[in-house]
Amino acid sequence: MHLNPYGEDAVNLAADLANRRPATAGKLADRCRAAGLVLEHPVTPRDLDRVHAVLEAWEKVVDAADERERAELVNRMLAESAAYPRLTDHTGGGWHLHYRDDRQPLGSVLFALFSVGTALHLAGRGMHRLRRCAVTECVTIFADTSRTGRQRYCSQRCANRDAVRRHRASRATG
Ligand SMILES: [Zn+2]
Ligand SMILES: [Zn+2]
Repeated sequence: MHLNPYGEDAVNLAADLANRRPATAGKLADRCRAAGLVLEHPVTPRDLDRVHAVLEAWEKVVDAADERERAELVNRMLAESAAYPRLTDHTGGGWHLHYRDDRQPLGSVLFALFSVGTALHLAGRGMHRLRRCAVTECVTIFADTSRTGRQRYCSQRCANRDAVRRHRASRATG
């Protein structure tokens, strides 16, 4: 996975893992590979623990009360995880930027990737574009990469569910 200028793949992977936490190191490895990440080391239970801790911190970014708090939380993650940027061709698939030291275990790789990816996404597309679904009992997190930046639901299914409910509510009161 290469970080694109908007950090889209990285922020989407963070949301995917936060929404459905991998239970084992093997499952974590599979999900990362499916997202296009090249794994340089065997994935261990320590990586899994690290990723759970990183996702805890990341969910606080999602649930931040306002932009300032959100920025502060992202900056804290960046300070703890990211190194100076460097060009690398470690996979032979083309030169790209890493914001981390070489030869890191997956837990550290994901920490840096989610911090930088989320920062790029928020700075590039808008500070409000990370949230939970507007349906109250759906807690699914998504990064809003829509053209308008007004996505409210995690899926079309939830959008329909809410439309039906609002329709019923308006008939009840009207
Ligand atoms: Zn790379
Ligand atoms: Zn939803």
